[in-house]
Amino acid sequence: MWSSEELERLNEHFQNQPPEALLTWATQTFHPRLALTCSFSGPSGMVLLDMVVRSGLDMTVIFLDTDLLFPETYELAALAEQRYGIPIQRRRPALSLEEQDRQEGPHLYARDPDRCCHLRKVTPLTETLRDYDAWISGIRRDQSNTRATVHLLEWNTRHNLVKINPLAFWSDRQVWTYIHTHRVPYNPLLDQGYPSIGCTPCTRPASASNPRAGRWVGFAKTECGLHTG
Ligand code: SF4
Repeated sequence: MWSSEELERLNEHFQNQPPEALLTWATQTFHPRLALTCSFSGPSGMVLLDMVVRSGLDMTVIFLDTDLLFPETYELAALAEQRYGIPIQRRRPALSLEEQDRQEGPHLYARDPDRCCHLRKVTPLTETLRDYDAWISGIRRDQSNTRATVHLLEWNTRHNLVKINPLAFWSDRQVWTYIHTHRVPYNPLLDQGYPSIGCTPCTRPASASNPRAGRWVGFAKTECGLHTG
């Protein structure tokens, strides 16, 4: 376990450095027990993937596949694997959709999305992260109120590891400038009125000013649970 003093010192150290410096430090410190999760939905994960490859860093890339993602998301994962020449580990839930329907009843996402996210996202991530000491994610402060206080480095009690958010302080504009400058591939749904993309049944078009309004429409839910707790 890392102390809050150590993490605070590191947060100060990396505050004014580019994300690549933090990614390089993370690799030197945690390899091979370091994983980057990429949803192949939002642009931030693609920026991190590009930075990792461009910086010549070696880390495991994990794609959590709920079996309910958009075709565009699966296509981007395949394209990225080919373009960047790195193996992407695809992790799926223990239950197939048919098994989940038998156990929980059909259309669980429409009745109890928290339970559905728990089975199809949170539990697979928890099981995956048992093998790692540090986890890199693309979440940013400007994405939602629930993410407004994330730090570059945090101790994550749920997974018992250091969570690293190299783009915590980046703006949407910085992300898109990087994407266009480096010609990073991204999910085409982002250009088709879907500023925040998750599973097919739980994602609707939304305005750019309130991107997460298109997620779990009709429920108070705003997070799948991967980045809470
Ligand atoms: Fe289930 Fe929807 Fe959560 Fe996907 S986003 S795991 S379909 S509730």
